[in-house]
Amino acid sequence: MAEHAPVLIMVAVLLPPRSLDALGLLVEERIVRTPFGNVGPLALRRTGSGQSLWVQPYSGLPTRTDPRATIYAARALGIQRVLTWDTGVAVNHALPRGQTVVAVDVIDATRQQPGTFFKAAGFEALVGLGESVESATFCPDATNALHALFPAAPPAVIVGVDGPRRETAAEARAYRALGADVICPNIAPEVFLARELGICFAAIVTVDAYSRDQVREALEGEVRSGLEHAMAHLPEVAQRLSAPRTCHCAT
Ligand SMILES: [Zn+2]
Repeated sequence: MAEHAPVLIMVAVLLPPRSLDALGLLVEERIVRTPFGNVGPLALRRTGSGQSLWVQPYSGLPTRTDPRATIYAARALGIQRVLTWDTGVAVNHALPRGQTVVAVDVIDATRQQPGTFFKAAGFEALVGLGESVESATFCPDATNALHALFPAAPPAVIVGVDGPRRETAAEARAYRALGADVICPNIAPEVFLARELGICFAAIVTVDAYSRDQVREALEGEVRSGLEHAMAHLPEVAQRLSAPRTCHCAT
């Protein structure tokens, strides 16, 4: 009998080996086959308080799994809520390295990643021809839970990019002028794909670099301590996000 674990944490952050053990004991590892390729291994973990959750190391490199495969696999596992933890480049000059922010909106600047299921064979029925797709982004309830659990984390507008190329100074100024705070490689198009399949999506981002248009000193250890702080809260995040859904993301 498979365990019910309604939450997936996608860890797009480089961490020391074994640090994921803070998210609980490893119960099972699984590879999920999807029409868009295999996903995994995903790890099922159980926290000290008995909460089960799925954990997936995740990379924004161009060699990554098709984002559609990742989100399709989440649905196949019965996951209702996805939390992505990414690192990002601050274009907002007020954000220091090591600062964690809560994603509240997104500008999609990706070009290579398939950003919708609707063009995939077998998925046409999800939307009527000629209809535009609702551009709902982050789950309001899950995002509110993140605000409560990370009270020192400001709300942030994310720019989703393909990577691995870093932004130019001109792009950084342009993103900032558009209202963005942080550039991230692992949030778009995943956020849109999740919502197409009725999955809640929320994200936190830990700033690990300054954009090319800034000259700011990078201090030793500031990113590491920021990551440790965020990591320490993740078991509680998993517990909060496992509560029954009252949002409208599934419709
Ligand atoms: Zn939701």
